[in-house]
Amino acid sequence: MICIDETLAQLYVDNEVDTATKVAIDKHVLICKDCAQKIDEQRSLSTLIKEEINTLSNAPANIPNFASISSKLNNNKKQNLSRLIFAASAACVIAFCLIFFLRKPEEKQQLVYYYKIEFNEFDANKPYTEQEASIIIFDENGKIYNH
Ligand SMILES: [Zn+2]
Repeated sequence: MICIDETLAQLYVDNEVDTATKVAIDKHVLICKDCAQKIDEQRSLSTLIKEEINTLSNAPANIPNFASISSKLNNNKKQNLSRLIFAASAACVIAFCLIFFLRKPEEKQQLVYYYKIEFNEFDANKPYTEQEASIIIFDENGKIYNH
């Protein structure tokens, strides 16, 4: 077997290699001081990490009493909630007003007026400004407003 690398050494220490690999490594470290040392280093590192984790998990849990603060928080939450409801209803009224008032100009803008000039009697001998004519104003639906 060729020498093992750090990754394989770590897997071996964590018992995450298959049986055949484990047996091969067991045999190899008997004849290879380098790999035996790698395994030892990984094992001591792994042990150190496990000890650190145990220290952390065994640390006494000093949880201070938050009772008074949490009751204050609850009061604040209630106040915030009523403020939120007020703000939401105000926003609804404003939104309704905006929709109501913004709608009308849009409808007006949709109306397009056209006009055409109709000559009653066209006299070719008179200048353009003296011709008798009437202006017809109508919208896009063809509705006539004056004639
Ligand atoms: Zn080796």
